[in-house]
Amino acid sequence: MYGEPDIIKTYFSCGQPLRKDIKTGIGDDCAIVEAPRQRHLAITTDTLIEGTHFVKGAPPKWVAYRALAASVSDLAAMGATPIWCSLAITLPRVDKSWIQEFSLSFFDLAKKYNIQLIGGDTTKGPLSITITAQGSVAPGKAILRSGAQVGDWIYVTGFLGDSQAGLEVVLDDRKRSRPFASHLEVRHYVSTPRISTGQSLSLSGLASSAIDISDGLVTDLQHVLSASCVGARLNLEDLPISGELLQYLYKDKKSAYRYALTSGEEYELCFTVPDSNKVSLTRILAQTGTKLSCIGQVQSPPQLSLYLDGDKTNWNLSGYDHFSN
Ligand code: ADP
Ligand code: MG
Repeated sequence: MYGEPDIIKTYFSCGQPLRKDIKTGIGDDCAIVEAPRQRHLAITTDTLIEGTHFVKGAPPKWVAYRALAASVSDLAAMGATPIWCSLAITLPRVDKSWIQEFSLSFFDLAKKYNIQLIGGDTTKGPLSITITAQGSVAPGKAILRSGAQVGDWIYVTGFLGDSQAGLEVVLDDRKRSRPFASHLEVRHYVSTPRISTGQSLSLSGLASSAIDISDGLVTDLQHVLSASCVGARLNLEDLPISGELLQYLYKDKKSAYRYALTSGEEYELCFTVPDSNKVSLTRILAQTGTKLSCIGQVQSPPQLSLYLDGDKTNWNLSGYDHFSN
């Protein structure tokens, strides 16, 4: 019978060029790796469950992409460089074409970020994927959530809001007739983890704090603010909204701001930068080619205030919370 060892052998343990720091890869009881010299390790784990973190029947290539991108994005948020990962996958049945599509997409993205699969576990049950990833960072150079200071500027990479619009399209067929619906559907699954931006911020030491946006800008920025014991002001008109999202929302800017504030699974970076580093930041990050927007400033009152065209709004917003939804 075609079982766990066959799945591992056929789909997960071949086709990867071996990194030199891997002494024993997939196939033994443990992977054996050489710890990077004079670097610290950054380690992160994330689980995706079908029906909770992605819709039932989502294309396997996108499930794989999302799962690995989420872990790589966590490494990016610390300024780390991806190295290895492991994959614990629970499958309801052996569907060879599903696993094939999943693994091809997984290895495609892994190659792009030079992160190597070194082990995992394959079990039977309701579909879920857990990835643990390791990265390396120069000692003392990891960017923490707790370093934001009053007066620092708040930046985000890329565009915000597309993922939430894409999720709507996935969940509601009536939304498919809206402009750019299929583009946004892809954007829901396919993000760009900001490894090179994270690395530049870590190396240059220009950022005082950073986080990646997995649960929505408001929710994730709140994590930074509470870890740093500060508050912030966000200027809604400075939020980066894509042309596609604006068209999808029939040019309703206020709606677009709401999407940008709460959209999860964006995997963009949100980070803070002292005023004295602002000019260097623009110069250094121009080299990564990543879109950058300054969306607000850290303040001492401990709450997060939203401003629109200079006036304080009373918008009530909450991001995606795994336990309240
Ligand atoms: P054990 O029972 O000793 O934990 P397994 O039979 O579960 O070993 O796994 C055999 C080998 O295959 C191990 O090296 C393990 O890390 C690897 N492995 C299992 N599942 C996966 C997977 N989905 N992806 C990558 N490697 C895997
Ligand atoms: Mg096992």
